[in-house]
Amino acid sequence: METEAIRARPVPGVVPNLADYERARRDFSWESAREALDGLPGGRGLNIGYEAVDRHVAAGRGERAALRCVSVDRQVSTVTYEELAHWTNRFANVLRSLGVGRGDRVASLLSRCPELYVSVLGTLKNTSVFCPLFPAFGPVPVEERLRLGGVRVLVTTEDLYRRKVVARRERLPQLEHVLIVGPCIEPLPGTRSFDALLAQASEDFTIPDTEPQEMALLHFTSGTTGTPKGAIHVHEAVVAHHATAAFALDLHPDDVFWCTADPGWVTGTSYGVIAPLTHGVTMVVDAGEYEARRWYGILAEERVSVWYTAPTAIRMLMRASPRGSPPDLPNSFDLSALRFIASVGEPLNPEAVRWGQEILGLPIHDNWWQTETGAIMIANFAATEIRPGSMGRPLPGVVAGLLERGPDGRAVVTDGQVREISTLGREGELALRPGWPSMFRGYLHAQERYEASFAGGWYLTGDVARRDEDGYYWFVGRADDVIKSAGHLVGPFEVESTLMEHPAVAEAGVIGRPDPVAGEIVKAFVSLKPGFEPGTGLAREITAFARRRLGPAIAPREIAFDQNLPKTRSGKVMRRLLKARELGLPEGDTSALEESR
Ligand code: ATP
Ligand code: MG
Repeated sequence: METEAIRARPVPGVVPNLADYERARRDFSWESAREALDGLPGGRGLNIGYEAVDRHVAAGRGERAALRCVSVDRQVSTVTYEELAHWTNRFANVLRSLGVGRGDRVASLLSRCPELYVSVLGTLKNTSVFCPLFPAFGPVPVEERLRLGGVRVLVTTEDLYRRKVVARRERLPQLEHVLIVGPCIEPLPGTRSFDALLAQASEDFTIPDTEPQEMALLHFTSGTTGTPKGAIHVHEAVVAHHATAAFALDLHPDDVFWCTADPGWVTGTSYGVIAPLTHGVTMVVDAGEYEARRWYGILAEERVSVWYTAPTAIRMLMRASPRGSPPDLPNSFDLSALRFIASVGEPLNPEAVRWGQEILGLPIHDNWWQTETGAIMIANFAATEIRPGSMGRPLPGVVAGLLERGPDGRAVVTDGQVREISTLGREGELALRPGWPSMFRGYLHAQERYEASFAGGWYLTGDVARRDEDGYYWFVGRADDVIKSAGHLVGPFEVESTLMEHPAVAEAGVIGRPDPVAGEIVKAFVSLKPGFEPGTGLAREITAFARRRLGPAIAPREIAFDQNLPKTRSGKVMRRLLKARELGLPEGDTSALEESR
């Protein structure tokens, strides 16, 4: 499929606005973005906790709802900015009383709940470093991350502590304090009550001087391609969180914003906690699990105006209401407040963008970034044309490029230099010019790995992309996932997107299987929509469908059915695992694999 073929399908009703985009890029500077924030009173630096919470109180907006917390049984409670300021002060005081200070690591193992916000922001106010962990991780990945992070304080619940930490606590001597949120049914030695400590603490706290370059967050990458890396981010990142949320999520102070990302994933912090609060919006915090009816109910009842989610969730909604059938489910809810939908985490198939337009009446704006970049780098903006299947264009302040690749799929580095690709439509490793405020400052305990991600003045992302003549970037695949078949380079994303256009296919994961003749042949693993049964007839039909659209060189030669495609907890299909299983090789690091689905 040529870039042109997809380009011919702009979403109707969205006006191209290239001129403004160019001007916005010219006029923008990170220095001016920083001026949009307040800084600590008295010129004492820049602290994420202050920018997210206290500055709104200082400006007389403390009464506004910061959080709308929806419990599992759909009870809703409100936390105002002023209340959040007090609770985060209390937590900062608790940390101080425990002797936990500047640079010390505090981790959470919590699902989405108000205490998570109190922990993140209280930790940052105390100039300690916050490290969120996925509550869905098993005991081994939890232990690994706690050890690697040198975590001194863990905030969790009784249930999660019993299931994931207690048996391994002895191996974690540096873990001094475990604070249990909520009731403790049976006494738990070696832990203290988060609630009781907070209740005793003062609600007054003065944030210490904070250097913009001080370490603030430790985020582990999703582990899609191997062992997760601990990316270090600093307080100054808040400048990028704030600016990018305006550009790529169209956030305005009156918005009601819902980010469905789990805590533990960088999206859950950058856009699930920090960025929206810096804009003073009201945020929905849902403690429940995904369920189509629940989600539509929350969008309607909370009058959500901006919604940030992920392809995996969108595909689940698509399964519940396929295109072409009457959208009874979404139609039975009042979604009139919804203005903007964005997606991140893996490629958003064009089919999903069109589904949004047809079923929800709004297109879905894809955007691209990584744990390492800390904030959105490339996006389909609200005011400009969306190109379904494209990640969009670099944000103001972001300079992207494509680099010539070698046989290992990554950029060729010769004497520290790289070659930029200028030919339209040619694919290369996606690279970014360093210098934006939320850029990672290191991988914890892995300096060499960090240094190896830079060459010739670029940060190398490990992703492969193409660019069209208007500067839109098109995701091809991760450098490791790109397939070489009979002299053709095949991007798994393109094949997966085409497969998803077949009415029976819900999701797909595509790999290259070694072949003596072709080098590699394209093999697809697909899960089916309800009402379809796997079988050789259907496999043949899907193969023929893909051949018609992609041509024989790129279409999958083999189809396997798998209703449980392996995914990371952040919803990414783990192609390397499909491949290892296919080849009977060791599965490698699977710590980020979703537990059970
Ligand atoms: P690891 O680095 O441990 O292998 P990971 O790369 O999946 O895991 P994240 O930082 O959570 O960890 O994810 C960033 C990656 O997700 C990107 O490099 C890209 O491969 C993919 N990604 C994110 N957004 C998009 C998007 N809009 N389109 C295509 N791919 C995306
Ligand atoms: Mg990565």
